[in-house]
Amino acid sequence: MSDVDTAAPAAETRGFQAEVRELLKLMIHSLYSHREIFLRELISNASDANDKLRFLALATPSLNEDSGELSIRIDHDAAAGTLTVTDNGIGMNREEAVSHLGTIAKSGTAEFFGRLSGDQQKDSQLIGQFGVGFYSAFIVADRVEVLSRKAGEPASQGVHWESRAEGDFTVATVERAERGTSVVLHLKEAAKEFADGWKLRALVRRYSDHLAFPVLMRKEGGEASLDYEAVNQAKALWTRPRSEVKDDEYTEFYKHITHDGTAPLAWSHNKVEGKREYTSLLYIPSHAPFDLWQRDAARGLKLHVRRVFIMDDAEQFLPLYLRFVKGVLDSADLPLNVSRELLQQDAEVEAIRSALTKRVLELLGRVAKDEPEKFATLWKEFGQVLKEGVAEDPSNREKLLPLLRFNSTHETGEEDKTSLPDYLARMVTGQQKIFYVIAESRAAARASPYIEKLRARNVEVLLLADRVDEWIMGQVTEFDGKRFQDVSKGDLELGELADATDKAQEEAALKEHKGLLKRVKDALGDVVTEVRISRRLTESSAVLVREEHDMGAQLRRMMAATGQELPRGKPVLEINVGHPLIKRLDGVVAGEEFNELAQVIFDQAQLSEEGQVANPGEYLRRLNRLLVRLTAPAP
Ligand code: ADP
Ligand code: MG
Repeated sequence: MSDVDTAAPAAETRGFQAEVRELLKLMIHSLYSHREIFLRELISNASDANDKLRFLALATPSLNEDSGELSIRIDHDAAAGTLTVTDNGIGMNREEAVSHLGTIAKSGTAEFFGRLSGDQQKDSQLIGQFGVGFYSAFIVADRVEVLSRKAGEPASQGVHWESRAEGDFTVATVERAERGTSVVLHLKEAAKEFADGWKLRALVRRYSDHLAFPVLMRKEGGEASLDYEAVNQAKALWTRPRSEVKDDEYTEFYKHITHDGTAPLAWSHNKVEGKREYTSLLYIPSHAPFDLWQRDAARGLKLHVRRVFIMDDAEQFLPLYLRFVKGVLDSADLPLNVSRELLQQDAEVEAIRSALTKRVLELLGRVAKDEPEKFATLWKEFGQVLKEGVAEDPSNREKLLPLLRFNSTHETGEEDKTSLPDYLARMVTGQQKIFYVIAESRAAARASPYIEKLRARNVEVLLLADRVDEWIMGQVTEFDGKRFQDVSKGDLELGELADATDKAQEEAALKEHKGLLKRVKDALGDVVTEVRISRRLTESSAVLVREEHDMGAQLRRMMAATGQELPRGKPVLEINVGHPLIKRLDGVVAGEEFNELAQVIFDQAQLSEEGQVANPGEYLRRLNRLLVRLTAPAP
């Protein structure tokens, strides 16, 4: 290039960021069998660049530079073995080329690399989900050149970027009249097929039919002619009637907007007309993104106003608990110059958000009903997030509750879950409440002493073990007229579940053990408010029971983690008078031995509630004294 501005910085060689080097190596090997995806990525980038230009030109029309209609052009040269993707979009300057094509800016990059296992099969899956982007060009090319000029900058400030993927790239400032970017691939010997017109045409159509810009190729048979034609419909997919869009096209479009290589699980495409006018196309992905739990992770919809792309990640249109939903919103009512700040205050936005929330919940409901297997996947990936909606969005609770899935005493496997309507359908005669138990793990919940009696009567209990469960369950009181009951709290009133014999037995037991209850209370003093006969237990000797409104172990741990230790009420000790240990206790006369045994029983109840005792050392000494006495040789 002889006409390079002499004042311009010279060509230089730069190293790729370490992550890029890693990604390149992995990608070239593990994605080889899907190598045609590079074309989706390059076309997608060209389309993004055109979108950005059109948006910026709204405020600065001079950026249009009379360069005609926005389009994407694909050229190939079978003899030279090259393939070129050209757009007349926003372009890049030298600095941008260095940073955008030499590093990975994506959020969650660190997690992504942390999850790579070295297993090719698994890693190629992961890479697909991560979104491979520009670097996928190196799957098929051993040399890639990028020529670009940024909109609004002089022709002297073009950039020429080039790399052979061997750890570094070169950049030089060059003369370039055309606005936008050309990516030139020098195809590997084994990938020369991509310089074939017929093959290319079919592929290009697949990857571009949903795009809003014409994708131009030279007319068939006219390799030498400069006569171009559009090979796609060049109509933004969401603007087409639902009946005309094929599933494949919906899937391709999803991949284009999300950079996710895996097909979505479900979608909902709707046009709203009347007082308010907008089109939405919402997708449920088939797997959680790496950054689902990252606070600053990008989320939200791709916003368009009258088909003009406005911004990515417009988060105001869906509540936080639906942050896994991807898609496009095209509004006819919002101003073209709408900003994130404006979106925050707009009443219009609030109305759309509420309507879209309902749409998504309906879509989820439909999947749950018609495709339970898909829904199981969805729950596994996003259930934890969706659950937050119970607390976050009380107005949609009626729609949300039936979508929740629970482990229960009636289900056997981790994946085998029940819904609340299914639970109601299985309630036994006389059952008035929905029973649940919260524990540290599903196994601990299943083995919980609090549910012994219920289980013995074949009453189903929901087993909750997620970090947020206690918080969530604290927000709901009933479902379909049935109240929720934490089985570890309050006086477990079995209502009609208890039959006449139960009542008679209870009364008899109370009369018989009144003295014992008093003696135990006296032995324990005021660490408990009361000692009573349990309606919960069949196998365990005793449990601690809390007041209905008392905070459970999970919430207290959460509060403690944030530095807020809360004083708590004293528990009730419930004892199982049928248990051999309690029977033995009854036979011991009040005194040191009785007190010690009562204390051990209390400690054990605490152990089973909290997973720990207040004073482990003392507990062990006490227990050991009893064991020594027990194992003493007979006199
Ligand atoms: P992504 O598209 O997810 O951002 P890519 O690896 O595909 O990731 O692209 C990285 C960046 O390079 C883009 O974000 C963009 O800034 C820049 N880029 C790539 N292709 C083009 C292009 N044709 N025109 C302008 N910028 C581009
Ligand atoms: Mg991209």
